[in-house]
Amino acid sequence: MPKDFLSGAQDQYDVVVIGSGLGGLTAANILAREGRSVLLLEQHYKLGGMATWFKRPGGNIFDISLHGFPHGMIKSCKRYWSQEIADSIIQLEGVRFDNPMFSLTTSFNRTDFTNLLTNRFGIAPDQVDEFFNTARGMNFYDDQDMTTGQLFEKYFPGREDVVRLLMEPITYANGSTLEDPAITYGIVFSNFMSKGVFTFEGGTDKLVKGMEKIMKKNGVDIRINSNVEKITVKNSQIHSVTANGREIKTSCVVSNANLRGTIFDLIGKEHFDKEFVRDAEEVRLNNSSTQVYMSLNPQDHVDRETGDLLFSSTAARFQTDLLLSRNITSRTFSFYYPDTRPNKFDRVMIVSSTNANYSDWTGMSLEQYKESKSELIETTLDALEKYLPDARKRVEHAEAATPVTFEHYTKHIEGASFGTKFEGLAVSRALPEQISGLYHAGSCGIIMSGWLGTINYGVIVANDVENLLHKQSSPAISG
Ligand SMILES: Cc1cc2nc3c(=O)[nH]c(=O)nc-3n(C[C@H](O)[C@H](O)[C@H](O)COP(=O)(O)OP(=O)(O)OC[C@H]3O[C@@H](n4cnc5c(N)ncnc54)[C@H](O)[C@@H]3O)c2cc1C
Repeated sequence: MPKDFLSGAQDQYDVVVIGSGLGGLTAANILAREGRSVLLLEQHYKLGGMATWFKRPGGNIFDISLHGFPHGMIKSCKRYWSQEIADSIIQLEGVRFDNPMFSLTTSFNRTDFTNLLTNRFGIAPDQVDEFFNTARGMNFYDDQDMTTGQLFEKYFPGREDVVRLLMEPITYANGSTLEDPAITYGIVFSNFMSKGVFTFEGGTDKLVKGMEKIMKKNGVDIRINSNVEKITVKNSQIHSVTANGREIKTSCVVSNANLRGTIFDLIGKEHFDKEFVRDAEEVRLNNSSTQVYMSLNPQDHVDRETGDLLFSSTAARFQTDLLLSRNITSRTFSFYYPDTRPNKFDRVMIVSSTNANYSDWTGMSLEQYKESKSELIETTLDALEKYLPDARKRVEHAEAATPVTFEHYTKHIEGASFGTKFEGLAVSRALPEQISGLYHAGSCGIIMSGWLGTINYGVIVANDVENLLHKQSSPAISG
């Protein structure tokens, strides 16, 4: 008989959280800490969603999405997780750019960027200051007509090199383009510029296991290998969730699964207003990624000057569509040194990431798919030679992941790395107006994505849920 992963689960909970990405984990933890009974259902055998890692023989351990996040993670982890988790967050010192327009290393903060923009790129200091102040002053409620491209044209007309410096890392960080609303750029860029780029010392496994421990202490009922097939709605209210064929009652659901998958697959469009359905149908998915995971021989040493995060490109100009092309010209290399990413044989691990279109990786035979993956590995090794001489000899293990891999493990439609585009946020926020007790917390809307964005979104949604549960349990005040 197959194992029953829901054995011993209650028949009813205050809240059911679907998915254990960072947004789902954070919402579950906060609500349990408030004393609510919380069931966390994860379809995969591991917690973390895209914040994950995998092991290979020989002491190899690879992180999938631990490349960098803003300083704000320290505050969010301290408040909503623990001091110990916050204490493991450290700065990445070496952020490098190497492309036909410029090669430089930066600490990726406002002081250093001001210095670069004025002294190296020759922009007037007042202009740089005004740009930074405008970007920092942006918020979600601002006019959303201006695009990021227009913002750059306003401050740095005709300066493709400056646009490249300012935009390339953000496009990599959340898939945003020059055509997206300027606030999607301004908020994320300013978050990074406040203090630089940070990472989690010890690796994603340490973070997620630490979170699991805290959730258990707070009483979250955690169930892996538990796939939610259906959310049942009765009279425009959440009624239950069905996972692994078993129905569990609840009045509140926080879905951390893909926004469109939640609306159209888990619930069904017949439960929503026509206008809402139209808006939800128009929500664009974010792009996906390819990655190549490489580990060096145990004795091999890589000079720290090589950098931590290297934005490399061979494209003559910066174009967002080029960043997605199967004909790869841009790669972001993350170097993991054994002191910050411990592993059994003190190996240096390198992960190369590239934004990618799902359509470029589907519809092929298994044979073609395998060949395409091998080609991706080979061209990546070629590109790495420039920064790691004799890379081919030094890399002991290499393997690749594609949009199909990300879709397979997380059920994100088309393997979207950052959920949905900007318009997804309004649809996500409007869910409880459509169905009482229905919430979504997870990568969407560019701002609410990435490790920090989705943790913060989990906090916002947990507060919304708490307010609803509080109202439901308080007797109505009568006059
Ligand atoms: C290659 C790559 C590199 C990245 N690099 C960075 C980076 O350097 N810095 C950064 O900040 N961010 C990075 N990100 C983005 C970041 O990882 C995500 O934005 C974030 O982890 C998403 O969290 P989430 O809460 O939206 O949930 P997700 O991680 O999307 O998890 C959703 C969870 O829901 C589960 N689920 C789905 N459907 C069901 C169901 N029906 N039943 C039960 N469970 C279900 C899935 O299995 C999954 O565990 C990267 C992403 C990728 C793919």
